[in-house]
Amino acid sequence: MHPVVKPALRRAWRDLRYVQFGMTAAHAVVMGPVDTATGSLLSRFDGTRGLPRLRAEARAMGLPDGHVDALLERLTEAGLVDDVTGGGPAVSALRKRKEAYDRLRPDLASLSVVHPEPGGGAARLAARGAMRVQVRGAGRVGAALAAVLSASGVGRVDVLDGGRVEPWDVAPGGLPAEAVGERRAVSARQLVLRSAPGRGRRTARCSDGDPPEPPPLSLVIVTPRDGFPAYAPDPVAAEDWMATGTPHLYAGVVEASGVVGPLVLPGGSACAGCLALGRADRDPVWPRMAAQWRTPRHRGSSPGPCDLGLATAVAGMAASHALSFLDGELPACTGTRWEVSLPLLEWRSRRIRPHRDCPCGAAGQTEGERASGAGTPHDTMAGAAASTERFRMTDAARQLGIGGAHV
Ligand SMILES: [Zn+2]
Repeated sequence: MHPVVKPALRRAWRDLRYVQFGMTAAHAVVMGPVDTATGSLLSRFDGTRGLPRLRAEARAMGLPDGHVDALLERLTEAGLVDDVTGGGPAVSALRKRKEAYDRLRPDLASLSVVHPEPGGGAARLAARGAMRVQVRGAGRVGAALAAVLSASGVGRVDVLDGGRVEPWDVAPGGLPAEAVGERRAVSARQLVLRSAPGRGRRTARCSDGDPPEPPPLSLVIVTPRDGFPAYAPDPVAAEDWMATGTPHLYAGVVEASGVVGPLVLPGGSACAGCLALGRADRDPVWPRMAAQWRTPRHRGSSPGPCDLGLATAVAGMAASHALSFLDGELPACTGTRWEVSLPLLEWRSRRIRPHRDCPCGAAGQTEGERASGAGTPHDTMAGAAASTERFRMTDAARQLGIGGAHV
């Protein structure tokens, strides 16, 4: 192990004895009291030294045996230590792909902030490389979202869509102007390959010969060009994912409103059926109206309203939620829908309750109740023990108005 105090967190001494790592309430930690010698030792946790050398240097500084290990334990418990040699074989392989690794360094630094254990961020980044995500829809939201996932290290991003690229599909970060007239599926595939970090990966995926067996889908993201099926998802369209237990997430823009969520964990959190039944409970004529809105007369062939800034924001937020899920968390869109509308753009969340009459069974599951039945967005993370622990730390930090986890 070559420990390094996470460089992604800014460091500042609050006074002569207490040092704060990080600025934001979500991730900042205060450590102290720290004596002068320990402070000096801290600066040597920079990733260039292994533990034997650190112990020898501590002895030379007059520090007692065990001081290095005790300090390392304190720092590790606070989530402040990374291991520049850790993460396992997949991480080692990623480090050898220098171009890809350099592209992903900011993402790795971000993951190191989020995941407390040494090497945890790198392990998650490498794990993305083995994952497969399907994005259904290559409009302004779907194409940009697929590009972001690919650029974030997701190994395989399949984009499904029909027809040919229209001028109004073009977006920065999405389909380029040169693609107008090309088949959407082909253009989206090229976009995904162009966006992937590192040429080695692209070459491997485009090589001749029998393609390797695709890994199972980790996630399906529904991003229809006409945002209505994201706003009012069709339970029938989700039947296969429900039957196979495939997690799926809805995101789109409709009528100057953006929507991200819910992320559906089949049988564990509210699904499209729960959403539809809940709406019908609140407004009995909803099904009748939804049927009218679904008809081709309303969908037409002309582009619907879709503000480019809003579409980009929805794509980015949906991608971030998806990545959080792929990295092992239960993001705030689990069983919850986030909505935002022009012109004020205030994000608001609405929890989707599992419906007792929905055949998905989420209403009868404790896990489902936990995943979707909590009162605040952060509470939706309660299903993951690690997240709960971090939430407590965050909560304590907020109470202090700074990072507050003293170690
Ligand atoms: Zn359901």
